[in-house]
Amino acid sequence: MRGFTGRTLVDDALRWVDEHSKSLPGETIAFDVAHGRILAADVSSPINVPSFDRSAMDGYAVRGIETEGASDYNPLSFPIVGESMPGQPFPDTMPPGSAVRIMTGAPVPTGADAVIPAEYATETGATVEITSTVSPGKHVGRRGEDVSAGSQLFAAGRRLRPQDVGLLASVGVTAVEAVRRPRVRLLITGNELVVPGNERGEFQIYESNSSVLAALVHRDGAELESLMRVEDDREAISQAMCKAGADVVLVSGGSSVGKEDHAPSILAAEGDLAIHGIAMRPSSPTGMGAIQQTLVFLLPGNPVSCLCAYDFFAGRAIRRLGGRSAVWPYPQRQVEVGRKVVSAVGRVDYCRVKLNEGRAEPLALSGASILSSTTRADGFVVIPAESEGHAPGTVVTVYFYDPA
Ligand code: AMP
Ligand code: MG
Repeated sequence: MRGFTGRTLVDDALRWVDEHSKSLPGETIAFDVAHGRILAADVSSPINVPSFDRSAMDGYAVRGIETEGASDYNPLSFPIVGESMPGQPFPDTMPPGSAVRIMTGAPVPTGADAVIPAEYATETGATVEITSTVSPGKHVGRRGEDVSAGSQLFAAGRRLRPQDVGLLASVGVTAVEAVRRPRVRLLITGNELVVPGNERGEFQIYESNSSVLAALVHRDGAELESLMRVEDDREAISQAMCKAGADVVLVSGGSSVGKEDHAPSILAAEGDLAIHGIAMRPSSPTGMGAIQQTLVFLLPGNPVSCLCAYDFFAGRAIRRLGGRSAVWPYPQRQVEVGRKVVSAVGRVDYCRVKLNEGRAEPLALSGASILSSTTRADGFVVIPAESEGHAPGTVVTVYFYDPA
């Protein structure tokens, strides 16, 4: 065993991530599964919406100019020549001096240019008496007023919202080009690990990193390619790491310089171990590199280190590959520090904090192995390499684990 000779700065590791995670190519997907996906190409509308002038009210289609002067004291009468319903328009041109009964969403007949709402109209037999004037265009949704044919709906890079998918449907676009979702393999190593639900020996521990990682990978818009669990065995780890089919391999455990830590030397032998050892706490024994086109992240087994290394580096790469923003998907807020936060100059600290009367306090149990520090915490503070920490009263950015 030999310790790390030097540690890469977090900023340099982030730069490596950004240089090696360009957006994946697009694929054609159906509009009804496009929610949350990232567009790889612009989308334009092939049609006008509405595609005809439509009524915005239940009432009577008229020529606006012919209603001039109508009021409670001067009701005007029009013969009703027919009716226009949604999907069943009045078939002819509306003759001058007449009206057509019309429902919301129905086509405004040729000849008519306005709609008198039903509350200003009284129908008697075959005529309607109106008590209000409407100007031409009133209560009429113009053809193309929602969307005009040929106009751009969304630009490449857009993350589709529920209403975006609705708009695609409303213009009849049934397929879009979306950035392919990164395929992520979880490779969990450790002889001491037992999958929850199985019998556990006294000195064995339940395996938890795969649960955390699977959820994070899902959060970041990727697809789980596979979940592989292997012993701390060089050959087994090597095979699982090198197998084709993943855009990203996340190796949990055995990432440091111990006797059973095979992953770094395997990555160096089979591809490129670009970075090994980072000036941060936790997660200092993090590594990253690539085997051909596949990015490989070596995440320390300690649960907090694993989560933190994922969030700093692997998650960023996965989001970028999937065309998403590199930015953390955690809401952030400026909060005053309630109790001193200590950090060493030269390394970045990931400090779990809990809010107490609106002030951020570091958790007492903050070791890399204490997973419950991340469940008790409301969020975390990142203390930059050049800082010695924060005195009470300092205002810092807290990243909150819970979505807004
Ligand atoms: P390692 O990085 O393999 O040296 O592991 C560091 C610590 O994290 C050890 O105490 C391991 O037992 C623990 N550990 C490793 N992998 C996992 C895992 N998948 N789930 C929970 N704890 C783990
Ligand atoms: Mg281990």
